[in-house]
Amino acid sequence: MSLAVTGAVHAGERVGLRAEEGVIVELGPDVHPRSEDTKLDAAGGILIPPLINGHTHAAMTLFRGYGDDLPLMRWLEEKIWPVERKLEADDVYWGTRLACLEMVRSGTVRFWDMYWHPEAAARAVHDAGLRATVAAPLIDSDGRTQAMREAALQSLDELSAAGERIDAGLAPHAIYTVTEDSLRWIAELASERGIPVQIHLSETEQEVPDCVAAHGERPAHYLDRVGLLTPRTVLSHGVWLDEAELELIAARGAVIVTNPVANLKLAVGRVFPYVRARAAGIQVGLGTDGPGSNNSLDLFADMKVFALLQKHEARESAAVTAEETWEIATGRRAPLLGAHRLGVGQPADFLLLRTGVPELSFGELPAALVYAASGAVVASTVVAGRVLMRDGEIEGAEEVLARALECARRLGLAPPIASAQGNRALA
Ligand SMILES: [Zn+2]
Repeated sequence: MSLAVTGAVHAGERVGLRAEEGVIVELGPDVHPRSEDTKLDAAGGILIPPLINGHTHAAMTLFRGYGDDLPLMRWLEEKIWPVERKLEADDVYWGTRLACLEMVRSGTVRFWDMYWHPEAAARAVHDAGLRATVAAPLIDSDGRTQAMREAALQSLDELSAAGERIDAGLAPHAIYTVTEDSLRWIAELASERGIPVQIHLSETEQEVPDCVAAHGERPAHYLDRVGLLTPRTVLSHGVWLDEAELELIAARGAVIVTNPVANLKLAVGRVFPYVRARAAGIQVGLGTDGPGSNNSLDLFADMKVFALLQKHEARESAAVTAEETWEIATGRRAPLLGAHRLGVGQPADFLLLRTGVPELSFGELPAALVYAASGAVVASTVVAGRVLMRDGEIEGAEEVLARALECARRLGLAPPIASAQGNRALA
C-alpha cells in the first residue's frame, strides 16, 4: 500500500510526500507520485503533524448532552451510572466509532481511552483506522476484587490481539475507587508486562484530605508508595497537586495529562499548576476527558482554553506560548503518549489543512491554530499512510451516525424521533 500527497505546503515551501506500508519514505520539493500510489492532492493545504488526545472515555459520546450542568456526584449517580449498567459491547463499539469520527474530522489520530468493554472500543479504533492505548477502568472499592482482577487480565489478553495500532493499558480508575492491595497488584502486573497505566489523580479537592486521612500522605506520594508512579504512568488532571508532589512526579518520570475544558465544566475549583509542573520538569500532554464532561472531542478547543487559562492564572500573557501549547497537544512534550515526528522513516500520520479559510489566512501558524482555528480547518487526515478523511469526506460516516443513534435510543439517551436533538425548541 502506497500513498502520494502532492501540492502540500510544509515549512514555507511546496512539497510532496510518499508513504509505503504506513511509513513516510519521501518528503520534499522533488517528490513525484508513482503509478501504483493512492493520490491525495493537498491543493496548497498546509501539512502538519496530528493531535494526540491524552485522556478520554470515547464511547461516552452516547452520553453527550445527557444530564449536563449537574454537580459531579449527582451527574454520576443519577444519570451516568444507571445507564452504564445497561451498556453492551455493541453500544461501546458504536459510541467509540462516533468518537473516532469526530476525532478524524478534528485532527486527532491517537487517544488514550479508559472505558467499559475495552475489546469493543479497540475493535472500533481498529475499524476507524486510528491509534489508541485502550484500557478497562478498574474499580474494586465495592468489594469485587477478584472479578476486577479477572477482568483486567482478560482485557489484556483481548487487547493484545486487537492489532498493531492498538496498545493495551491498565486503568485503575482512581486511588479512591481501587483498594491499596489492588493498586499494588496492578503496579506489579504493569511492571511485569511493561504496559502503561492511566489513572485519574487529584481531580477534585476532596481527594486530597481523604487520601491524607486514609493513608497519611497526599495522593502522588501514596501512588508512589504502591508502585504506580513510573515512567509508564499517565496521570489525568493533577489539579490539586502541591509542590512536593510535582517534584516527585518529575523525579519518577510520570506524565500528567491536563484536561482544562472538563475541569472548568465540572467546576473543580483550581487550575492545573502547569507553570510549576513545567519548572519541575514534568512531561505534560493534553486531553479532552470524556464527551459526557467536555462535551467536545475537538482538541483545538482544549488547546485554546489551556493556553488562555494558564496565562490568566499566571497573570502573565507570556506564561505559555502558542508554540508550546501546540507541542503539548501533539504529544511532543510527553513521548509516552506516542507522538512521531513528521519526517522520512516515521509513521505516515499527518493532517492537511483547508485552504481559503479566514482563520488561517496569514500570520504565524501556531498562533492561528491555537487561538483562531477549530478542528474544522482540517481537510484531510492520514494515519499509517491510509487516508481516513479526504477533503472533509469520511467513508462510512452515515452508518456510524445512524448506528450510534440507535444505541443511544436503546439506552434512553436520545428521543425516538427523526432528529436526535429535536426534543427542545430554542427560542
Ligand atoms: Zn476521565
